[in-house]
Amino acid sequence: MKTQYTIAIAGNPNSGKTTLFNNITGSHQHVGNYPGVTVDKKEGRCEHKDTALKFVDLPGTYSLTAYSIDEVVTRNFILNDKPDLIIDVIDTSNLERNLYLYTQLIELEVPVMLAFNMADVAKARGLKLDMKLLSSLLGAPIIETVGNKNKGTQALLDAALKFIKSTEKSSPPDILLGRYIEESIAVIICRLKKHTAITNERKLRWTAIKLLEDDKEIVEKIDNQSIYEFVQAQQKSIEFMLGDSAEMLIADHRYGFISGAYHETVRATIETRHTNSDRIDEIVLHRVWGVPIFLGLMYLLFWLTFTVGTPPMEWLDALFSWIGNSISHTWSPDFMPAMRDLVINGVIKGVGGVLVFVPNIILLFLAIAMLEDSGYMARTAFIMDNLMHKIGLHGKSFIPLLTGFGCTVPAIMATRTLESRRDRLTTMFILPLISCGARLPIYTLIIAAFFPPVWRAPILWGIYLSGILLAILLAKLLRKSLLKGDSVPFVMELPPYRRPTLKGLFLHTWEKAWLYIKKAGTVILGVSIILWALTTYPKTEVDHTLPVEQQRAIQLSNTFAGRVGRAMEPAIKPLGFDWKIGTAMIGAFAAKEVFVAQLGIVYSVGESDENSIPLREKLAKAYSPLVAICIMVFMLIATPCMATIAATRHESGSWGWALFQLGGLTALAYVITLIIYQVGSLFVT
Ligand code: GDP
Ligand code: MG
Repeated sequence: MKTQYTIAIAGNPNSGKTTLFNNITGSHQHVGNYPGVTVDKKEGRCEHKDTALKFVDLPGTYSLTAYSIDEVVTRNFILNDKPDLIIDVIDTSNLERNLYLYTQLIELEVPVMLAFNMADVAKARGLKLDMKLLSSLLGAPIIETVGNKNKGTQALLDAALKFIKSTEKSSPPDILLGRYIEESIAVIICRLKKHTAITNERKLRWTAIKLLEDDKEIVEKIDNQSIYEFVQAQQKSIEFMLGDSAEMLIADHRYGFISGAYHETVRATIETRHTNSDRIDEIVLHRVWGVPIFLGLMYLLFWLTFTVGTPPMEWLDALFSWIGNSISHTWSPDFMPAMRDLVINGVIKGVGGVLVFVPNIILLFLAIAMLEDSGYMARTAFIMDNLMHKIGLHGKSFIPLLTGFGCTVPAIMATRTLESRRDRLTTMFILPLISCGARLPIYTLIIAAFFPPVWRAPILWGIYLSGILLAILLAKLLRKSLLKGDSVPFVMELPPYRRPTLKGLFLHTWEKAWLYIKKAGTVILGVSIILWALTTYPKTEVDHTLPVEQQRAIQLSNTFAGRVGRAMEPAIKPLGFDWKIGTAMIGAFAAKEVFVAQLGIVYSVGESDENSIPLREKLAKAYSPLVAICIMVFMLIATPCMATIAATRHESGSWGWALFQLGGLTALAYVITLIIYQVGSLFVT
């Protein structure tokens, strides 16, 4: 088949020309990653869409000034062989430098299109370009390629063929070279018109520029002493006026053109991402505003958890009572009454009671995922560092603390990043004070039961905040007493901010929500069944003439749970707690959510009424808001769950430390709750 078109491949050394050439022609030219491998031009053929194409792999050049043999070979081929198209291969990761050749190619008025090769490297470096805009600014089609992966080859061939066949060629822009140089060009063109045979306007301009650039070949070719002297005079006057050689100034303008196009189309680079991040950090990490902004964002988080989370929580609540009611209507009380009670009051009240908080859990983790994925979370350690330094601690300990908002167990594992053992032990010890996801249902249940809507978000925020503050204080205390010593300095990384992706947010949130749901179906279910049994047996005969409520109370208090509860009542009474709360707290040692499940069970076991009222209302009738606060404070501080104790024992390598954590935190919870209740009782009755 007869060759119809010739396409030349030009570009800087090492931009991937030979690689593209081989991809297209299938031949195996030597590919090397050092300049000058392609000394002479190589040819190859391919057929694309029934069109025979000849490709020429030109030597790599940075410019088209006749300095080196490579430049001369390239330029002469372009000027003399007049290829139908030149593909200028650009190393996209080094865009500004590589586009210089392009500015010279367009001065030759030859058909050029661009292959933005090394697109993978550019992407890896964070470069994002508006390719459409850049293509129209540069006046040439752009195809992205990854040569060594043979990506974009077909698209390149398609575009090349389309470009050659289209009648309407895109017109590359004129690069204006500044007033003085343009004036010189104009007068040189006049001379050229007079003394040479060149008539083409573009060619005239190009020749004038090359003369100003002192291009040996062109000077020899023109071979006209008067023009030569005239050009020299022009060069002198330019240098006199502008203080730089004409050649240098012309290059400056070409680079200026590239730089303008680049900055107009670049959407993101490592640098811009970092400068934008710096700008955000100026506000967010501000000495004075940093902490209030952090507190404000946290507040927003809890506000969201409550206001948005409450309606779906109520729907789920209604759904579970509907399920419970349906079962109690269809399941006759005479048929396996124990099983019936277990299903309705053990499983549904227990597991259902925990599951209704799934919407709140989802919202909390969604908000945390947003803060994490955007890069803000990494900053909170920095913000807290200031505060923590003041009390002799280091901000790095704050990073595991953030994980603690999700679950304490992985947070304890995360303390491995701390180099000093003292720092590790301290951080481990205080981690349970960072309210984990499992405590959210407790807070949500209690707050919604006792406080009006406007107070809910602030109280939740206050509880979390109290935990953090207490953790910091306790850490300080430990570092001053048991674990004396200097902390190790370290670099706190501030990665650039990025827009969280929907996929990332969804995955992070779902992961946590699913864990919660799974836990409800396994641990909580198992514990609920046990607790139900303990709260149901042994059954006692009661006087049926007594009011129903009283009968239930007597029965409950005679069950195993009731007996244990009553045994511990003297100890917890000063905190405002009764035996029901007490047993729920014991259950919470298995998993914090069990607290909610157990209250659900205790308040419904043996219940006779068919239409159960929400647990919230029962609680509001049974306790005062002061007790409610005490419950939350106690649950915040006391008894880390079993998994936490196991993790502490494993990570610290000592049972002593784990038991000290268990005992110490519980004692602390006791003292603080005692003070709150006793002092509080003086004011509210
Ligand atoms: P030439 O000097 O322009 O002919 O460049 P070569 O074709 O010899 O390629 C130089 C080096 O870059 C070789 O090691 C290629 O494997 C590599 N290379 C080519 N294209 C790409 C690309 O798109 N991405 C990456 N990462 N490497 C490439
Ligand atoms: Mg090569």
